Amino acid sequence: MDLVARAPRIPQPGETIIGGDFYTVPGGKGANQAVAVARLGAQVSMVGQVGRDAFAGPLLDNLAAAGVDHTFVAQDPEAATGVALIVVDDAGQNSIVVASGANMRLSPADIDGAETVIASADALLLQLESPLETVTRAAEVARAHGVTVILNPAPARSLPAELLAMVDVLIPNESETALLTGLPVGNQVEAETAAAALRGLGVGTVILTLGERGALLAREKGAEHFPAFEVTPVDTTAAGDAFVGGFAVAMAEGQSLDKAVRWGNATGALATTKLGAQPSLPTRQDLEALLSTGTVGENT
Ligand code: ADP
Repeated sequence: MDLVARAPRIPQPGETIIGGDFYTVPGGKGANQAVAVARLGAQVSMVGQVGRDAFAGPLLDNLAAAGVDHTFVAQDPEAATGVALIVVDDAGQNSIVVASGANMRLSPADIDGAETVIASADALLLQLESPLETVTRAAEVARAHGVTVILNPAPARSLPAELLAMVDVLIPNESETALLTGLPVGNQVEAETAAAALRGLGVGTVILTLGERGALLAREKGAEHFPAFEVTPVDTTAAGDAFVGGFAVAMAEGQSLDKAVRWGNATGALATTKLGAQPSLPTRQDLEALLSTGTVGENT
Protein backbone atom coordinates (compact mmCIF):
# COMPACT_ATOMS: atom_id res chain seq x y z
CA MET A 1 0.00 0.00 0.00
CA ASP A 2 1.39 3.41 -0.93
CA LEU A 3 1.00 5.97 1.88
CA VAL A 4 1.46 9.33 0.22
CA ALA A 5 1.73 12.70 2.01
CA ARG A 6 2.16 16.04 0.27
CA ALA A 7 4.55 18.47 1.97
CA PRO A 8 6.04 21.86 1.10
CA ARG A 9 9.47 20.20 1.05
CA ILE A 10 11.18 16.92 1.98
CA PRO A 11 12.09 17.09 5.72
CA GLN A 12 15.73 17.09 6.89
CA PRO A 13 16.97 14.31 9.23
CA GLY A 14 15.48 14.89 12.70
CA GLU A 15 13.02 17.48 11.42
CA THR A 16 9.22 17.40 11.71
CA ILE A 17 7.17 19.48 9.29
CA ILE A 18 3.44 19.95 8.75
CA GLY A 19 2.37 18.43 5.44
CA GLY A 20 -0.70 18.66 3.24
CA ASP A 21 -3.05 16.03 1.79
CA PHE A 22 -2.64 12.33 2.57
CA TYR A 23 -3.71 9.39 0.39
CA THR A 24 -3.55 5.60 0.63
CA VAL A 25 -3.17 4.09 -2.84
CA PRO A 26 -2.87 0.39 -3.73
CA GLY A 27 0.55 -0.21 -5.30
CA GLY A 28 3.44 -2.65 -5.56
CA LYS A 29 5.04 -3.70 -8.83
CA GLY A 30 3.52 -7.18 -8.85
CA ALA A 31 0.03 -5.89 -8.08
CA ASN A 32 0.28 -3.08 -10.65
CA GLN A 33 1.39 -5.55 -13.32
CA ALA A 34 -1.35 -8.04 -12.40
CA VAL A 35 -3.95 -5.27 -12.65
CA ALA A 36 -2.47 -4.15 -16.00
CA VAL A 37 -2.92 -7.70 -17.31
CA ALA A 38 -6.49 -7.99 -15.99
CA ARG A 39 -7.51 -4.61 -17.51
CA LEU A 40 -6.42 -5.96 -20.89
CA GLY A 41 -8.90 -8.80 -20.50
CA ALA A 42 -6.52 -11.67 -19.68
CA GLN A 43 -6.94 -14.12 -16.81
CA VAL A 44 -4.36 -13.52 -14.07
CA SER A 45 -3.50 -15.03 -10.70
CA MET A 46 -1.16 -13.26 -8.32
CA VAL A 47 1.21 -15.14 -6.00
CA GLY A 48 2.38 -13.03 -3.08
CA GLN A 49 1.90 -12.21 0.57
CA VAL A 50 0.37 -9.53 2.76
CA GLY A 51 0.19 -9.27 6.54
CA ARG A 52 -2.90 -9.54 8.72
CA ASP A 53 -3.37 -5.85 9.40
CA ALA A 54 -5.50 -2.90 8.30
CA PHE A 55 -3.90 -2.70 4.83
CA ALA A 56 -4.33 -6.37 3.91
CA GLY A 57 -8.11 -6.40 3.36
CA PRO A 58 -8.25 -3.28 1.15
CA LEU A 59 -5.37 -4.59 -1.01
CA LEU A 60 -7.01 -7.99 -1.51
CA ASP A 61 -10.36 -6.30 -2.25
CA ASN A 62 -8.64 -4.03 -4.77
CA LEU A 63 -7.15 -7.04 -6.60
CA ALA A 64 -10.53 -8.78 -6.66
CA ALA A 65 -12.28 -5.65 -7.94
CA ALA A 66 -9.73 -5.43 -10.78
CA GLY A 67 -10.39 -9.07 -11.70
CA VAL A 68 -7.11 -10.49 -10.33
CA ASP A 69 -7.39 -13.92 -8.66
CA HIS A 70 -5.72 -13.64 -5.24
CA THR A 71 -6.17 -17.24 -4.04
CA PHE A 72 -2.36 -17.46 -3.80
CA VAL A 73 -1.79 -14.17 -1.99
CA ALA A 74 -1.21 -15.48 1.53
CA GLN A 75 -1.72 -13.60 4.80
CA ASP A 76 1.19 -13.82 7.25
CA PRO A 77 -0.08 -13.13 10.80
CA GLU A 78 3.44 -12.27 11.98
CA ALA A 79 4.37 -9.68 9.37
CA ALA A 80 3.18 -6.23 8.37
CA THR A 81 1.70 -5.71 4.92
CA GLY A 82 4.31 -4.13 2.63
CA VAL A 83 4.01 -0.35 2.46
CA ALA A 84 5.76 2.52 0.70
CA LEU A 85 6.00 5.76 2.72
CA ILE A 86 6.07 8.52 0.13
CA VAL A 87 6.55 12.26 0.62
CA VAL A 88 5.89 14.43 -2.43
CA ASP A 89 7.04 18.05 -2.24
CA ASP A 90 5.69 21.14 -4.01
CA ALA A 91 8.25 20.74 -6.81
CA GLY A 92 6.97 17.20 -7.49
CA GLN A 93 10.13 15.57 -6.09
CA ASN A 94 9.60 12.60 -3.86
CA SER A 95 11.37 10.55 -1.22
CA ILE A 96 10.27 6.99 -0.60
CA VAL A 97 10.87 4.34 2.06
CA VAL A 98 9.64 0.85 1.16
CA ALA A 99 8.98 -1.37 4.18
CA SER A 100 8.60 -4.72 2.43
CA GLY A 101 7.17 -6.61 5.42
CA ALA A 102 5.28 -9.76 4.38
CA ASN A 103 6.63 -9.59 0.80
CA MET A 104 10.10 -10.53 2.04
CA ARG A 105 8.68 -13.55 3.87
CA LEU A 106 7.25 -15.14 0.73
CA SER A 107 9.17 -18.42 0.60
CA PRO A 108 10.08 -21.03 -2.02
CA ALA A 109 7.63 -23.34 -0.20
CA ASP A 110 4.83 -20.82 -0.89
CA ILE A 111 5.73 -21.09 -4.59
CA ASP A 112 5.53 -24.87 -4.42
CA GLY A 113 2.03 -24.42 -2.98
CA ALA A 114 1.10 -22.44 -6.11
CA GLU A 115 2.64 -24.92 -8.55
CA THR A 116 -0.67 -25.87 -10.20
CA VAL A 117 -1.56 -22.29 -11.06
CA ILE A 118 1.94 -21.56 -12.39
CA ALA A 119 1.94 -24.80 -14.41
CA SER A 120 -1.37 -23.95 -16.06
CA ALA A 121 -0.34 -20.41 -17.06
CA ASP A 122 0.79 -19.24 -20.50
CA ALA A 123 3.36 -16.90 -18.93
CA LEU A 124 4.91 -16.15 -15.53
CA LEU A 125 5.65 -12.51 -14.81
CA LEU A 126 8.27 -11.87 -12.10
CA GLN A 127 9.53 -8.74 -10.32
CA LEU A 128 12.08 -8.32 -7.50
CA GLU A 129 9.90 -7.18 -4.59
CA SER A 130 10.08 -10.72 -3.12
CA PRO A 131 13.21 -12.62 -1.97
CA LEU A 132 15.55 -13.69 -4.80
CA GLU A 133 15.43 -17.35 -3.76
CA THR A 134 11.62 -17.24 -4.05
CA VAL A 135 11.75 -15.55 -7.46
CA THR A 136 14.27 -18.16 -8.56
CA ARG A 137 12.04 -21.00 -7.36
CA ALA A 138 9.10 -19.55 -9.32
CA ALA A 139 11.21 -19.44 -12.48
CA GLU A 140 12.23 -23.07 -11.87
CA VAL A 141 8.63 -24.21 -11.50
CA ALA A 142 7.57 -22.36 -14.65
CA ARG A 143 10.51 -23.77 -16.61
CA ALA A 144 9.68 -27.31 -15.49
CA HIS A 145 6.21 -26.88 -17.00
CA GLY A 146 7.30 -25.12 -20.20
CA VAL A 147 5.79 -21.77 -19.13
CA THR A 148 7.39 -18.60 -20.59
CA VAL A 149 9.31 -16.67 -17.89
CA ILE A 150 9.35 -12.86 -18.08
CA LEU A 151 11.43 -10.96 -15.50
CA ASN A 152 11.10 -7.24 -14.82
CA PRO A 153 14.23 -6.74 -12.65
CA ALA A 154 12.74 -3.98 -10.50
CA PRO A 155 13.76 -2.67 -8.06
CA ALA A 156 17.22 -3.19 -9.53
CA ARG A 157 19.70 -5.52 -7.86
CA SER A 158 22.36 -7.82 -9.20
CA LEU A 159 21.00 -11.15 -10.35
CA PRO A 160 22.39 -14.66 -9.92
CA ALA A 161 23.38 -16.47 -13.14
CA GLU A 162 21.15 -19.36 -12.05
CA LEU A 163 18.06 -17.11 -12.26
CA LEU A 164 19.07 -15.39 -15.52
CA ALA A 165 19.56 -18.78 -17.18
CA MET A 166 15.85 -19.53 -16.63
CA VAL A 167 14.51 -16.21 -17.92
CA ASP A 168 13.07 -16.12 -21.45
CA VAL A 169 12.58 -12.35 -21.60
CA LEU A 170 14.25 -9.74 -19.36
CA ILE A 171 12.63 -6.26 -19.32
CA PRO A 172 14.64 -3.59 -17.44
CA ASN A 173 14.26 0.19 -17.72
CA GLU A 174 17.20 2.55 -18.20
CA SER A 175 18.30 2.83 -14.56
CA GLU A 176 17.95 -0.92 -13.98
CA THR A 177 20.00 -1.59 -17.11
CA ALA A 178 22.69 0.79 -15.89
CA LEU A 179 22.81 -0.96 -12.52
CA LEU A 180 22.87 -4.47 -13.99
CA THR A 181 25.56 -3.73 -16.58
CA GLY A 182 27.49 -0.74 -15.18
CA LEU A 183 26.99 0.84 -18.63
CA PRO A 184 25.26 4.11 -19.61
CA VAL A 185 22.07 4.02 -21.73
CA GLY A 186 21.98 7.64 -22.90
CA ASN A 187 21.61 7.01 -26.63
CA GLN A 188 20.80 4.33 -29.18
CA VAL A 189 24.34 2.98 -29.53
CA GLU A 190 24.82 2.79 -25.75
CA ALA A 191 21.43 1.05 -25.36
CA GLU A 192 22.42 -1.59 -27.92
CA THR A 193 25.75 -2.16 -26.20
CA ALA A 194 24.07 -2.51 -22.79
CA ALA A 195 21.42 -4.88 -24.18
CA ALA A 196 24.16 -7.03 -25.71
CA ALA A 197 25.91 -7.09 -22.33
CA LEU A 198 22.70 -8.31 -20.68
CA ARG A 199 22.31 -11.01 -23.34
CA GLY A 200 25.88 -11.98 -22.51
CA LEU A 201 24.70 -12.81 -18.98
CA GLY A 202 22.65 -15.66 -20.44
CA VAL A 203 19.19 -14.25 -21.29
CA GLY A 204 18.07 -14.91 -24.87
CA THR A 205 15.77 -11.92 -25.27
CA VAL A 206 16.23 -8.53 -23.65
CA ILE A 207 13.89 -5.56 -23.96
CA LEU A 208 15.06 -2.19 -22.66
CA THR A 209 12.26 0.27 -21.96
CA LEU A 210 13.49 3.75 -22.85
CA GLY A 211 10.67 6.04 -21.68
CA GLU A 212 9.61 8.49 -24.42
CA ARG A 213 12.16 6.82 -26.72
CA GLY A 214 10.14 3.58 -26.74
CA ALA A 215 11.89 0.23 -26.42
CA LEU A 216 14.85 -1.73 -27.74
CA LEU A 217 14.38 -5.44 -28.50
CA ALA A 218 17.63 -7.43 -28.53
CA ARG A 219 17.64 -11.10 -29.46
CA GLU A 220 19.83 -13.58 -31.27
CA LYS A 221 19.13 -12.17 -34.71
CA GLY A 222 20.03 -8.62 -33.66
CA ALA A 223 18.68 -5.46 -32.04
CA GLU A 224 15.66 -3.48 -33.19
CA HIS A 225 14.29 -0.17 -31.98
CA PHE A 226 10.53 0.32 -31.52
CA PRO A 227 9.60 4.03 -31.22
CA ALA A 228 7.16 5.14 -28.52
CA PHE A 229 3.56 6.03 -29.39
CA GLU A 230 3.05 9.78 -29.47
CA VAL A 231 0.90 10.86 -26.54
CA THR A 232 0.67 13.84 -24.22
CA PRO A 233 2.02 12.52 -20.90
CA VAL A 234 0.37 13.69 -17.68
CA ASP A 235 2.04 11.33 -15.19
CA THR A 236 4.53 8.59 -16.07
CA THR A 237 3.96 6.59 -12.85
CA ALA A 238 3.49 2.89 -13.68
CA ALA A 239 4.44 3.26 -17.37
CA GLY A 240 6.96 0.47 -16.86
CA ASP A 241 4.41 -1.78 -15.11
CA ALA A 242 1.94 -1.11 -17.94
CA PHE A 243 4.55 -1.95 -20.60
CA VAL A 244 5.36 -5.27 -18.91
CA GLY A 245 1.64 -6.11 -18.51
CA GLY A 246 0.81 -5.34 -22.14
CA PHE A 247 3.85 -7.28 -23.36
CA ALA A 248 2.96 -10.32 -21.20
CA VAL A 249 -0.64 -10.42 -22.44
CA ALA A 250 0.53 -10.43 -26.07
CA MET A 251 3.03 -13.22 -25.36
CA ALA A 252 0.41 -15.26 -23.49
CA GLU A 253 -1.92 -14.87 -26.48
CA GLY A 254 0.78 -16.29 -28.77
CA GLN A 255 1.58 -13.03 -30.62
CA SER A 256 5.04 -12.48 -32.13
CA LEU A 257 7.78 -10.80 -30.09
CA ASP A 258 7.60 -7.74 -32.36
CA LYS A 259 3.89 -7.40 -31.81
CA ALA A 260 4.31 -7.91 -28.05
CA VAL A 261 6.81 -5.02 -27.89
CA ARG A 262 4.30 -2.83 -29.76
CA TRP A 263 1.60 -3.81 -27.25
CA GLY A 264 4.02 -2.96 -24.45
CA ASN A 265 4.79 0.44 -25.96
CA ALA A 266 1.09 1.19 -26.48
CA THR A 267 0.09 0.11 -22.96
CA GLY A 268 2.99 2.12 -21.46
CA ALA A 269 2.10 5.21 -23.49
CA LEU A 270 -1.58 5.04 -22.46
CA ALA A 271 -0.60 4.77 -18.78
CA THR A 272 1.23 8.12 -19.05
CA THR A 273 -1.92 9.92 -20.22
CA LYS A 274 -3.68 9.64 -16.83
CA LEU A 275 -2.78 10.40 -13.21
CA GLY A 276 -1.83 7.67 -10.75
CA ALA A 277 -0.57 4.11 -11.00
CA GLN A 278 -3.41 1.59 -11.19
CA PRO A 279 -6.14 4.09 -12.21
CA SER A 280 -4.06 4.98 -15.31
CA LEU A 281 -3.83 1.41 -16.64
CA PRO A 282 -5.69 1.11 -19.96
CA THR A 283 -8.50 -1.24 -21.00
CA ARG A 284 -8.37 -3.58 -23.97
CA GLN A 285 -10.52 -1.14 -25.91
CA ASP A 286 -8.07 1.74 -25.25
CA LEU A 287 -5.17 -0.47 -26.33
CA GLU A 288 -6.82 -1.64 -29.54
CA ALA A 289 -7.78 1.94 -30.45
CA LEU A 290 -4.18 3.15 -30.05
CA LEU A 291 -2.74 0.15 -31.93
CA SER A 292 -5.08 0.57 -34.88
CA THR A 293 -5.19 4.37 -35.20
CA GLY A 294 -1.93 5.44 -33.56
CA THR A 295 -3.88 8.00 -31.52
CA VAL A 296 -5.45 7.96 -28.07
CA GLY A 297 -9.22 7.24 -28.24
CA GLU A 298 -12.06 9.51 -27.05
CA ASN A 299 -12.70 7.48 -23.90
CA THR A 300 -9.15 7.78 -22.55
P1 ADP B 1 9.69 3.03 -16.01
O1 ADP B 1 8.33 3.56 -15.71
O2 ADP B 1 9.96 1.69 -15.44
O3 ADP B 1 10.82 4.00 -15.77
P2 ADP B 1 9.88 3.72 -18.83
O4 ADP B 1 9.99 5.15 -18.43
O5 ADP B 1 10.95 3.16 -19.70
O6 ADP B 1 9.71 2.74 -17.60
O7 ADP B 1 8.48 3.56 -19.60
C1 ADP B 1 7.99 2.29 -19.99
C2 ADP B 1 7.37 2.38 -21.34
O8 ADP B 1 6.25 3.29 -21.32
C3 ADP B 1 8.29 2.92 -22.44
O9 ADP B 1 9.06 1.86 -23.00
C4 ADP B 1 7.27 3.48 -23.43
O10 ADP B 1 6.71 2.42 -24.20
C5 ADP B 1 6.16 4.02 -22.51
N1 ADP B 1 6.39 5.44 -22.23
C6 ADP B 1 6.98 5.98 -21.14
N2 ADP B 1 7.02 7.34 -21.23
C7 ADP B 1 6.43 7.65 -22.41
C8 ADP B 1 6.14 8.89 -23.11
N3 ADP B 1 6.49 10.08 -22.60
N4 ADP B 1 5.51 8.81 -24.31
C9 ADP B 1 5.15 7.62 -24.85
N5 ADP B 1 5.40 6.44 -24.25
C10 ADP B 1 6.02 6.44 -23.05
